Amino acid sequence: MRFYFESLGCPKNLVDSQEMARRLERLGHIPVHEPRKAQVLVVNTCGFIEDARRESLRTLKKLARRKRPDQVLIAAGCLSQRWGEALVNQVSGLDALLGTRRWSEIGAVVEEVWARRKEQSRSPLSRLGDPPATEVDGFLAARQGASAYLKIADGCSAPCAFCAIPLIKGPARSRPVASVVRDAVELVQQGVKEIILIAQDTTAYGRDRGEPDALPDLMQSILTAVPELRWLRLMYAYPTHVSPRLIERMAAEQRVCHYLDLPLQHAHPDVLRRMKRPADPERTRRLIADLRAAMPDIALRTTWIVGYPGETEAEFEALLEFVSEVRFDRIGAFAYSAEEGTAAVALPNPVPEPVKLERLDRLMEVQRQISFEISRAQVGRKLDILVEGQGDGLIIGRSYRDAPEIDGLVIVPDKGSEVQIGEMIPVRITGALEYDLMGEMEDR
Ligand code: SF4
Repeated sequence: MRFYFESLGCPKNLVDSQEMARRLERLGHIPVHEPRKAQVLVVNTCGFIEDARRESLRTLKKLARRKRPDQVLIAAGCLSQRWGEALVNQVSGLDALLGTRRWSEIGAVVEEVWARRKEQSRSPLSRLGDPPATEVDGFLAARQGASAYLKIADGCSAPCAFCAIPLIKGPARSRPVASVVRDAVELVQQGVKEIILIAQDTTAYGRDRGEPDALPDLMQSILTAVPELRWLRLMYAYPTHVSPRLIERMAAEQRVCHYLDLPLQHAHPDVLRRMKRPADPERTRRLIADLRAAMPDIALRTTWIVGYPGETEAEFEALLEFVSEVRFDRIGAFAYSAEEGTAAVALPNPVPEPVKLERLDRLMEVQRQISFEISRAQVGRKLDILVEGQGDGLIIGRSYRDAPEIDGLVIVPDKGSEVQIGEMIPVRITGALEYDLMGEMEDR
């Protein structure tokens, strides 16, 4: 059968989507890029926050509206897991729901809904909750040109009061080292230069099997298995799970990007306590000092939530002071949105929406200046750039300081140097914008 796949949400969802598509192809189904050409329509949904849910609903409703009698529509992923039957009530014409922990059953689900499509009064097939057998592993990587996301674990066991992920994905489950290394070898054989390790909390790798500090060893196993790999990048680190051994390993290995995504969410101890997050800003300051001492050129990214229930002006000011003092290279910032089923929903003193948005603007204004100053400080440096685009006389790429899709770019005039996409080129940084850099290519 011909199938059309739409993947929404985060890189972790993209990994599941690509593995589901591979499994359908292995069963002889044919991927098509337009829904009207398909018999099977699959949407891997996101259910994390309100905006993401709206996008998933919009996508499903559009496909359901245009669905022909000879087509079936499957809703997979986080929104299916989170809403279950409620999603069926919202989207008439759904043929199946496939949960976040049952993606490996996509083949069987397609067979079953296709066989049932002529039955008149059929209710949608539902495959939610825990898988019947042990969780299936697979090739859990998503390639994007010369880069690839490699999932090392799924689920999360942290108690963050505002987050629905544990409700959707279940507790943390680390993948076997051998499977992760196998995927890394396959990616590099496909020509991948950069592997980005992802999970809800990469630094929790191994904890669920009693190995609290297993990530540095996993990274070493990957690096040993793929000597040709140029960059190994770490995303989604949890502040109290970044061990001295991890810092040492990152600093000792040239191929490990001196880059860390370290979501902190807030900086005021009272807010952090209400968030059920590590509430010791001094410890966080020491961690950042240790990272910078070990890797003076490290690029640090974090995530902030403003307008959390009860957040006072003084608590917000404390966040601004911390941001100005610590000076992260990159941030993601969000206005708090209440997530059904999370502990934070019951907290008193909600912050009015206009106040949340005003605080978000003030925070981004402070960060814009910091990012610009840090970008300017890169001028004169020689950096290796992974080429990701070319055209209009320009070469576009990223340095070790930039994760794909969320950080900055490096823009280089193309002087007819026959550069290939996916190539690594040496660039002298000559100028800076708020988040992007400009440079000149050096001799290779
Ligand atoms: S660590 Fe991240 S994914 Fe896990 S509960 Fe906290 S915010 Fe959610």
